[in-house]
This record gives sequence, C-alpha cells and structure tokens, in this order.
Amino acid sequence: MHMQRVSVTGAGGFVGHHLVKRLVAEGCWVRGVDLKPPEYEPSPAHEFELLDLRRWENCARATRGVEEVYNLAANMGGIGFIESHKAEIMHDNVLINVHMLEGARLNGVKRYLYTSSACVYPGYRQNSADVTPLKEEDAYPADAEDGYGWEKLFSERQCRHYYEDYGLETRVVRFHNIYGPLGTYDGGREKAPAAICRKVALAEDGGEIEVWGDGKQTRSYCYIDDCVEGIHRLMRSDYREPLNLGSDRLVTIDELVDIVATVARKSIRRRYDVTKPQGVRGRNSDNSRLRKALGWEPSTSLEKGLARTYQWIHSRLEASGRLRKELAVAS
Ligand code: NAD
Repeated sequence: MHMQRVSVTGAGGFVGHHLVKRLVAEGCWVRGVDLKPPEYEPSPAHEFELLDLRRWENCARATRGVEEVYNLAANMGGIGFIESHKAEIMHDNVLINVHMLEGARLNGVKRYLYTSSACVYPGYRQNSADVTPLKEEDAYPADAEDGYGWEKLFSERQCRHYYEDYGLETRVVRFHNIYGPLGTYDGGREKAPAAICRKVALAEDGGEIEVWGDGKQTRSYCYIDDCVEGIHRLMRSDYREPLNLGSDRLVTIDELVDIVATVARKSIRRRYDVTKPQGVRGRNSDNSRLRKALGWEPSTSLEKGLARTYQWIHSRLEASGRLRKELAVAS
C-alpha cells in the first residue's frame, strides 16, 4: 500500500503536534519541522528537523520529497503577545509563508495547507459583544487585526495565486480560538482558556483571579480534536476558498471562567483589569459554509473540552510543585 509522505511545519507547537500524532496514526510518513521539539511530550514524527523557516534554504529542505505540506509554523501567541510584537510577527511570518509556498511549488508538492486565523476579520464587524457570526466573505473590505491578521490575509491570497498561476492545490483554514491539552499555558504566549485554567488551578477555593478586560467580551472556542478532524476533512476535500474552523457557541470571558470554576469545583472571584489588551469586543464563527463544504462541524462541548484542558494544566502545575507553593502563599 502507498504510504503518503507529508511534512508538517510548526510540529513543535500546539496544533502541529496534535496533527502529527493524527497523521502518524493514519499511516502517513511524517516529517515534523520546527525551531524546537514539542514541549510536553516527544513527537511521533518519523523525522523531526530543527529548521528556521524564515530562511529560504530551510523551506526548500522542509518541502523536499513529500506529497503534502501542512504549514502551521508561525510566530504567534495570545492577544498580549500579538498586540505588542507586530513588526516581528509580520516580518517572520511573511518570510515563512512566502518561502514555504515557493519551496512546495519547486519540490512538486501536490497539496498545501495554510492555517489562517479569525484575526483576518475586520474590526468594524466586531464592535459589539452580541456580534453577528462572521462569514468567510466578511473578511473584505479588509480591516484585519493589525500586524498578525494582515499578514494572514496576505498569505491567504498568496495561496490563492499559487493555485491560479501554478496549479498548486492550496487549502486555507481560518481557526477560531483552538484550545486543549498540550497547549502553552504560561510564559506570555498563552491564550485565554489556558490562562484561565492556570489561574483557577493556582487559586484557592473562594480566591480571586485577574481577568483581562471587563469580562463581557465574547468569543467562541474550538477543541483541538475537532480542529484536527476539520484539517483532515478540508485536506481531503476539493474546497479551495478560505474556510472557518471553529465553534459557533458564543460565550463571554465571564462564562468561560464560570465553566472552569465549575470543573475545578471552586468558587472564584474576579478582579477585572481593563488596562490589559482584550482584542475585539466580540467574535463568533458562522459555520454555514463549513457545514456545506465538509458536511461536518465541531461538536465537542466547551464543558467537556475545558474539563480535559483544566485537568492537564492542573497535573502539569502539580508535577512542577507550583501548585503547592502558590496555594501555600495564598492561604
Ligand atoms: P504554536 O505557537 O503552538 O505553534 C507554532 C509553531 O511554529 C511553534 O512551535 C514555533 O516554534 C514554530 N515557529 C515559529 N517560528 C518558526 C520559524 N521561524 N521556523 C520554524 N518554526 C517556527 O501555535 P498553534 O496554536 O499551534 O498555531 C498553529 C497555526 O495555527 C499558526 O499558523 C497559527 O497562526 C494558526 N492559528 C492558531 C490559532 C489557535 O487558536 N491556536 C488561531 C488562529 C490561527
């Protein structure tokens, strides 16, 4: 039987690592590429190359001898990080994406996945917490998230042009807040679900956590297993336009804290810090096109996904001794 050969960049990161596990389980030969290996467990990739993909020659190397490329490498993080590193993010990600597409073309890659983001959607459609879910065509006229979002929009278009001009089969997915175990949970690049799980785990019952913003901003959150399933289905489909991949259940940050507190069986008070970056006021995914294109949509409930995420972060903190230390300080 033919063993499909694929390359996954960003394989040391959160989504990339989960994707490598899935592709290996499906019987693919997988090359993982990243600046670093996965942080929390070894990669099952058949080959793992430590390469800086801002450099052309490394992208040529990363794309050699494979039929499919899943390009997930990006300099990125939560809202605190992307709002304060715009030049660096645009610089690094433009280089990675331009060189990766060209490497894929020259190496005769058949199919190429690009992971874009809900950050491509215009600010003017996301001014209210009670936001209308975002359809793919709403990305234009463009007013993307400054820095990170504009680069994503540019690279989406470059994928389209590589199909139109060279026939490279490109697939573009717009993730909406992916979360789950094995994701960054501290250090400044973590996203809201992981940050809240960490803060609740470190708080005592009846204790207080800091929440960025007034708690009324809204988002939707998609569990990692659904994300990997969606990537798989999109790559096997003939759908070439950008496609949302997210949940369409809108929740406030306060509701997110409530769910985590329930999972942790703690009563938690909040201290709102409105000086901290919060991003857009509201953002939700319209999944009409996803359902039509793939005949499927994410189904893991936020309660179930957050329970698994919380348990993983709690066990990490416990194993590192941090839980005992910080709870002792708090009491
Ligand atoms: P992540 O930060 O965990 O993984 C990205 C990986 O890219 C990291 O391991 C990093 O080391 C690697 N990388 C960065 N610069 C590199 C370079 N110069 N050379 C080689 N590797 C490099 O992020 P993630 O959450 O796994 O995201 C994967 C992709 O999905 C990214 O393109 C991201 O922009 C996109 N995305 C993610 C989300 C989300 O909620 N997680 C939302 C929207 C879009």
